[in-house]
Amino acid sequence: MTAERLDGKATAQAIREELRGEVERLTARGARPGLGVVLVGDDAASAIYVRNKTTACEELGMHHETKTLPASASTEDVLALVEELNRSLAIHGVLVQLPLPPQVDATRVLDLVDPGKDVDGFHPDNVGRLVQKRPRFVPCTPVGIMELLARHGIEVSGKRAVVIGRSDIVGKPMALLLMHANATVTVCHSRTRDLAAVAREADVLVAAIGRAGLVRADFVKPGAVVVDVGMNRVEDPAEARDLLPPARLANFEKRGYALVGDVHAPSVAPIAGALTPVPGGVGPLTIALLLKSTVRAAADALGAG
Ligand code: NAD
Repeated sequence: MTAERLDGKATAQAIREELRGEVERLTARGARPGLGVVLVGDDAASAIYVRNKTTACEELGMHHETKTLPASASTEDVLALVEELNRSLAIHGVLVQLPLPPQVDATRVLDLVDPGKDVDGFHPDNVGRLVQKRPRFVPCTPVGIMELLARHGIEVSGKRAVVIGRSDIVGKPMALLLMHANATVTVCHSRTRDLAAVAREADVLVAAIGRAGLVRADFVKPGAVVVDVGMNRVEDPAEARDLLPPARLANFEKRGYALVGDVHAPSVAPIAGALTPVPGGVGPLTIALLLKSTVRAAADALGAG
């Protein structure tokens, strides 16, 4: 048996195509959806993530603005940009690219984002609404995973779900969404004892850890659905040989690095019922759901105006 490949790229493309008509309709009514991004410092990965988001906006005919600040920026500098985007009538979704430099108070910054424009769903108002099962904006990665499962006909109601990772961005909201979809959910983290045995109980296993290839065959019940959120850069050739299928090794040797997930795909794919690839799994969905939230925020603004 080999796991069904849950193609996030194709699902993301389908979601984007569904949004295209809505963007045109809103634009014609004077509410062209707009995304405002705050990018602080010169972290290379953050710059790539922001570019991917703004390129995706452009492809759908959406408006976007990126406000940048140097790595030396103060909390007040960042707050001022958030305020500017909060006030802008052309902007319906505001996001602050994380991580922020250590001298910037990230909590103060995220708390200032207008909850009605908080497309990342990090504001405490939106977190509270999710907990109470009356969601407005929900973090894009876990919502994307729920869409991926639904669009592949994977029912979670009544199933055992195990989420490895308890971050505010992925693990916690993922556990809440699965619970609200009537799964029986266990959340694991760095202090969980006998992690493999707990994971092996899962019908649906979500790995959001940030450790290359941590989830191996002994973590997976035969037939389980395995969702790999991890995005890890591997540069060590021995590690790459262990983690990558032969088809990707040549590319690793050419580039000197590869992106791998938290799941050791070569040993898990023969056991799992379904598996998301890295890259091409969860990553593209995150951006598609960010666009969807921004389009919805624009529609709400039009409705309220
Ligand atoms: P994080 O560092 O905030 O959280 C990691 C979690 O994993 C923590 O809760 C920690 O307790 C747990 N953990 C760490 N080591 C562990 C271990 N040995 N055993 C069990 N649990 C352990 O990370 P995050 O922001 O939640 O991201 C997790 C991964 O997902 C990263 O690789 C990140 O790059 C990736 N990510 C991908 C996307 C995407 O769109 N594909 C989006 C967000 C995050």
